[in-house]
Amino acid sequence: MTETIDINITKTKHSKIHEADLEKPQFGSVYSDHMFLADYSNGQWQDLRIVPYGNLSISPANTTLHYASTIFEGLKANRSADGEILVFRPDANARRLQVSAERMCMPPVPEELFMSGLTELLKLDSSWVPSAPGTSLYIRPLQLAMDPYIGIRPSNSYQFLIITGPVGAYYAEPVKVKIETKYTRAAQGGTGFAKTGGNYAAALKPAVDAQKEGFNQLIWTDAKTHEFVEESGTMNLMFVINDTLVTAPAGDTILNGITRDSIIQLAKDKGMKVEERPVRVSEVIDSIKNGSMQEAFGAGTAATVAQIKLIHHEGVDYHLPPVEDWKYSADFLDTLTKIKTGEIPDPHNWIYKI
Ligand SMILES: *Cc1c(COP(=O)(O)O)cnc(C)c1O
Repeated sequence: MTETIDINITKTKHSKIHEADLEKPQFGSVYSDHMFLADYSNGQWQDLRIVPYGNLSISPANTTLHYASTIFEGLKANRSADGEILVFRPDANARRLQVSAERMCMPPVPEELFMSGLTELLKLDSSWVPSAPGTSLYIRPLQLAMDPYIGIRPSNSYQFLIITGPVGAYYAEPVKVKIETKYTRAAQGGTGFAKTGGNYAAALKPAVDAQKEGFNQLIWTDAKTHEFVEESGTMNLMFVINDTLVTAPAGDTILNGITRDSIIQLAKDKGMKVEERPVRVSEVIDSIKNGSMQEAFGAGTAATVAQIKLIHHEGVDYHLPPVEDWKYSADFLDTLTKIKTGEIPDPHNWIYKI
């Protein structure tokens, strides 16, 4: 399938790899030498190309600049001990981009186009995949509307891009989070399940306010009652209560995380009990108070697992048990990291080798 897709490649004459710190890369500040692009017009994807990483030229009337007609994905590639480049579940990201596209009235990027663009880009920029422990190559596919038109309607032209850059660990330390009971991330019937720009723009003020109060992140609650926990920042939220993995169901307002799905699978593999069900704020607080809450963590591609040491609710700090003693989340992180780097077998065929 992928052989039939023609990609025009223009290589850079000025590689920046020697200026990059691949031992301790900063998240989101350095990008690899090349990027993949495809244009959508006249009802089809065309002009597939890889070019030197660089700026785009966009009309000031570009509809995305005004109305946030943009969706994205996030995934990672790791280097194995024998130097192979391993990408974690890219097919799942390709499908989720299509789910986001459908909600935002955008034409879907075919999975074969996504996969062949990604494959050729990573072949060309393979030296950018770092090998130091904790590092990886972050891959950011994005799709945006391109019509130079400020009326409100679906665009006729779109662009699909993939950029990449080396990254280190995202949150090294256990985090303090605040349960948000004023602002809302996502409502029933809204766009919470889509990775679309506006969701993240609207979440900035609540997150910055929480940071001013000394918290690293928020725990979002449902829009209607603020009585149920949903996600933590841009991660899915998971708990271990009485040795059971508890997490809210993905759906309209909760993004269907691939890390979340992978951890649920690993838990089931271990014979651990898993409950995907609505989780009340009161249950979270009560189970911390009565000691049945053993662990709490965020799950997402950037951090994989971000352990939560403190949860704040309505003026009160609730402390989790000492993070050093946690077994489950540490084990999920360890197992996922080893699968991603090829150190242990990959029983669910999650790894795509470049
Ligand atoms: C991307 C994202 C996640 C995590 O998804 P992964 O596929 O695990 O990276 C969770 N919640 C939100 C809101 C996100 O944008």
